[in-house]
Amino acid sequence: MAVIRDVMPAFQLFQPTSVTDAQKLLEEHGSEAWVMAGGLDSFDWLKDRIKRPKALVDLSGIQELRGIRSTPDGVEIGAMTTLTEVVRHPLIKEKYGLLSQAAELVASPQIRNQGTLGGNVSQDARCWYYRAGWPCYRAGGNICYADTPVGRNREHAILGAERCVAVNPSDTAPALIALDAKFVLQTPKGQQVADAENYFIGPDLDITRMNMLRPGYLLTAIRLPSTWAGAQFYFEKVRDRNVWDFPLMNVASAMKVSGDSIRDIRIAVNAVAARPLRLRAVEDSVRGQQRTAATAEAAGKLAVQGAVPLQFNAFKIPLMRNLVKRSITGVEEASWAS
Ligand SMILES: Cc1cc2nc3c(=O)[nH]c(=O)nc-3n(C[C@H](O)[C@H](O)[C@H](O)COP(=O)(O)OP(=O)(O)OC[C@H]3O[C@@H](n4cnc5c(N)ncnc54)[C@H](O)[C@@H]3O)c2cc1C
Ligand code: SF4
Repeated sequence: MAVIRDVMPAFQLFQPTSVTDAQKLLEEHGSEAWVMAGGLDSFDWLKDRIKRPKALVDLSGIQELRGIRSTPDGVEIGAMTTLTEVVRHPLIKEKYGLLSQAAELVASPQIRNQGTLGGNVSQDARCWYYRAGWPCYRAGGNICYADTPVGRNREHAILGAERCVAVNPSDTAPALIALDAKFVLQTPKGQQVADAENYFIGPDLDITRMNMLRPGYLLTAIRLPSTWAGAQFYFEKVRDRNVWDFPLMNVASAMKVSGDSIRDIRIAVNAVAARPLRLRAVEDSVRGQQRTAATAEAAGKLAVQGAVPLQFNAFKIPLMRNLVKRSITGVEEASWAS
């Protein structure tokens, strides 16, 4: 078990003021560099001395990475925009309320004041063993400490696990997938724009990363297309404590309805797998159907097909079934685990 020393390791600190300069630094230092946004995840790793980069590239002085702008096709949010700014911005509230709802449920006001949208979607897994410095698969070793009969795995995956059973902990990620957001990256080969759902990766692609970011990469902005602006939204987060806590699970849906029928829909859940999952089969099954309790019930059952619980997280199966169901009816119920 790692000892929490609360003392930073030595590194060179760089504070560029432009994306171009930041990119040059990242390319120069390659895998020895660490990108720092709000620092909430970064400082945990550094103060525990589990990650020891030689160069730290602090993005806080880059104005072009901040702010929320209207574009001909929707809205662009700079990666360094704080979660509080996202929550409060009138355009986001009015047209993309799903994202402001999700961002408002992240952690505490202090964390939202400092944490950025780019950092929130790029944060690492919160598995106890990994965060404590145990040499597990995700840390480059050859064992998973959580996936054992006595491992602490209550918060872990029920779907798509492969060796690592940790989940993605972001609250904003499923909302961005439901809104069909595009992630803008600067890479050593130029700009790349990725669909939100493809930004996140699972252990099948690379067990040591949760997203597309590699050495030399920078997430610069997130674009929300107008396609889903003003749709009917549903976001729900279930956590152990309603003050500041990571999600045990969350669900986000964006729906277009005509009368009683579901014309189009996008649904995503997080904290059930290593990456936030877009539920395409569920979307296909309800598209064109009446928005009734029976449709929602069937969708909930379909969502959990193939789910495999670990020793201590069987509760996540009925939880997911009910969250998906409610994301379609749009009605919260008193009990979620029946
Ligand atoms: C006590 C606590 C409770 C929390 N609770 C929740 C919660 O309930 N829900 C939730 O969703 N989150 C929660 N978080 C996460 C938090 O909200 C932050 O979003 C998260 O820690 C990272 O944001 P940051 O801006 O501080 O980024 P940092 O910590 O600086 O960066 C996070 C990671 O992303 C990389 N990165 C960041 N920005 C970029 C970029 N632009 N380009 C390339 N790489 C980048 C960094 O290298 C780092 O690996 C919690 C955090 C803490 C400490
Ligand atoms: S769940 Fe993943 S992060 Fe946690 S111990 Fe297992 S391999 Fe490591």
